[in-house]
Amino acid sequence: MNMEFKRKLAIPMEVKEMYPLTGKMSETVDARIAELKAIFSGASDKIALIIGPCSADNEDSVLDYISRLIPVQEKVREKILIVPRIYTNKPRTTGDGYKGLVHQPDPTAQPDLFKGIIATRELHMRAVKETGFACADEMLYPENHKYLDDLLGYVAVGARSVEDQQHRLTASAIECPVGMKNPTSGDLSVMMNAIQAAQHQHHFIYRGWEGHSYGNPFAHAILRGYVDQHGTPYPNYHFESVRRLAALYGETELQNPAVIIDCNHSNSGKDPFEQPRIAKEVLSFRKYDPAVKKLVKGFMIESYLVDGRQSVGGGVYGQSITDACLGWEKSERLILEIADML
Ligand code: PEP
Ligand code: MN
Repeated sequence: MNMEFKRKLAIPMEVKEMYPLTGKMSETVDARIAELKAIFSGASDKIALIIGPCSADNEDSVLDYISRLIPVQEKVREKILIVPRIYTNKPRTTGDGYKGLVHQPDPTAQPDLFKGIIATRELHMRAVKETGFACADEMLYPENHKYLDDLLGYVAVGARSVEDQQHRLTASAIECPVGMKNPTSGDLSVMMNAIQAAQHQHHFIYRGWEGHSYGNPFAHAILRGYVDQHGTPYPNYHFESVRRLAALYGETELQNPAVIIDCNHSNSGKDPFEQPRIAKEVLSFRKYDPAVKKLVKGFMIESYLVDGRQSVGGGVYGQSITDACLGWEKSERLILEIADML
């Protein structure tokens, strides 16, 4: 092969032995997952809010951000379950650029994937221990899921991965809810097929094992907008799009039909300040159709301490180095406004 094999990495079991969870941490994760599953099954009529930075580029600012969510979660707890985003691995459209904490624990230094795996586990552990949240991450590398499977409250399969078989089969083996994004082209059948694959049982090869997954009944849709052949973004959060998705679900035998509306990415045309309007529009049209209301189980919001984005090494504490985010004050206000509208 045309590559250098630099070193053999510790396997998930070894990393978990080095960085074990306490009983209390496991209880926290289990309880948050149970609450989230109740939302997706319809047993609870709260909504899920998956909110946080596009990428978790810095342990201090990410934990600072998540800590600020604690009192807000307390205020809205009758209506909203907050699942902070700790996105530690980033898909890149051309393959170039910052690929997340798992590649570069220090975004300005050379990649160090061993340190990255440890940094990722440590950050998710600190979040559970210090804030009481179980967080969301994107599953960019299915093989890496086992380094975090005892910690995550929610997993997303990204728009660039959702058509991939190994992602779908791995999702079928995941305990917590898994959101399948529509692909960047917007083809909903790709997303629906991914949900079906994830809900079913499979025999497949995983980390050198022949495995048998049991299926994940909480695999569901995430609408993130799409781009046409010229790269122009189009939204798919509007009433008509969600109603069409409800109809598509109606043609299937899928369990726990659900959609999370991703308010950023191609839905906002990457303008993070559109997110409050989008979330509020969706909340107001939910009431016009019971099928739509039942389907929309929550939102994904890209939010960080400081509005906007900067280049890698820009030096602004708590400002995104990937997609532009809504800053803290606006985000806090938005969460309270969402609660008021429910
Ligand atoms: C993200 O959620 O930051 C992301 C990369 O999303 P998508 O896969 O929809 O582009
Ligand atoms: Mn993003």
